[in-house]
Amino acid sequence: MNAPLDTTQRDALRSELLKRREALLGTLALHQDGASRVQHARDLLLQDGDDGPQRDADREVDLAFTDHERHELAEIGAALKRLDDDDYGMCADCGSEIPLARLKVQPQALRCVACESSQESRRGGVPHALM
Ligand SMILES: [Zn+2]
Repeated sequence: MNAPLDTTQRDALRSELLKRREALLGTLALHQDGASRVQHARDLLLQDGDDGPQRDADREVDLAFTDHERHELAEIGAALKRLDDDDYGMCADCGSEIPLARLKVQPQALRCVACESSQESRRGGVPHALM
């Protein structure tokens, strides 16, 4: 089977992935630093405070964001490992080539646009009968 991408294209996607990983790692470090400071401030506030619920909400948002970044980081790591395999750039669901334009925007993409959107609607709880 022909690899859908040539070496130059793979190299470009690899450097894009590495760049994103660097940026994410930087953000992640900032967040973790921030989160421990938020936690500390919250502990102080809770000692005499009654704005606990609001603080909890802020913290939830902060944690969710970090989880999202961790998830993306894992996807990027997996994409970097897949990059030299023939199935990189092939849709994990239907096996068709993921267009290079899409890979440039989202080099860690596992699926073509059609499969990704049906995956997302599945996550969103669309009944299987509609698929
Ligand atoms: Zn597909």
